[in-house]
Amino acid sequence: MPKTLTTVRHLDRASQKRSDKDFIAAAQKSPEARYMILVDEAPAIVSNAERTEAAIRWFKYADIETFDFVREFPIFLGLDDNAAPYFALNINEHRSRIMPGGPFVLKPWVDLRTLAVQGAMQVEELSLIGQAKSIAAWQLTARCCGHCGGTTNIRDGGWRRKCWSCGQQHFPRMDPAVIMLVTHGDKCILAHEERFPDMMYSTLAGFVEPGEDFEDAVRREVKEEVGVDIGPVSYIASQPWPFPHSLMIGCLGEALTTDLTLDPQEIADAQWFTRTEMQQVLDGKHPDGITAPMQYSIAHKLMRHFIAMK
Ligand SMILES: [Zn+2]
Repeated sequence: MPKTLTTVRHLDRASQKRSDKDFIAAAQKSPEARYMILVDEAPAIVSNAERTEAAIRWFKYADIETFDFVREFPIFLGLDDNAAPYFALNINEHRSRIMPGGPFVLKPWVDLRTLAVQGAMQVEELSLIGQAKSIAAWQLTARCCGHCGGTTNIRDGGWRRKCWSCGQQHFPRMDPAVIMLVTHGDKCILAHEERFPDMMYSTLAGFVEPGEDFEDAVRREVKEEVGVDIGPVSYIASQPWPFPHSLMIGCLGEALTTDLTLDPQEIADAQWFTRTEMQQVLDGKHPDGITAPMQYSIAHKLMRHFIAMK
């Protein structure tokens, strides 16, 4: 790996430190502090020329001063193994154009989805970017209080906002969504939506509604989208999906019926695939050219899980 690429494997979120104003203030100015800078939620990165290896580009507080970003409000990400504090700072593209030196000082910045698809960055760093991006996106939409319309002020290193007028507290938003592989014996359902790349088929998914448990959400979404009745539902794994702040709850749903009735508003096509066909899809060798979601996605993991269950 090139010398400029220093990867961060793990941060302790140190959530108990967030409310310590003195700690956060001192940590921000510490010579040990490191800053991820995002431009419109896309992090500045370093990479080799071929972009086969990439890492977050970490800046020091001295850089933040040079860039004239000291009045921006950074998000506290956590502490590394040496207790060095890490922050993320999100600016917009216009702000980058008026910073000393101009935007080229920060370039390149690359959005998380592209970085994940390229597969050049360690998964731990993608996760950190997801953490920063989710909070940054929430910060942009939580500036006013939903109760009284008053201005909210940032607290807890960016993890809480408090209304200046009525005192109401606001916390980062997360949207739970179920993502499910519907199975029936040796077969499972993959579907294509209009918004997907051509020929990409994936698992079904949908948001959990208020008052619903995950199992009910799986049964409702599958019935709505492909008309199949679902019996037992089992939880497999979850994945943060910071576009902008979802949490995907990955499940298997056992089908009680097999006839497909598609909701044309959501599903362009859906088919039953055998395990052998699924393996072809994952290997990029399906005779019809059908492809799977990227390897870091939970849909991909559910597909592999089903094949391994044989
Ligand atoms: Zn208020």
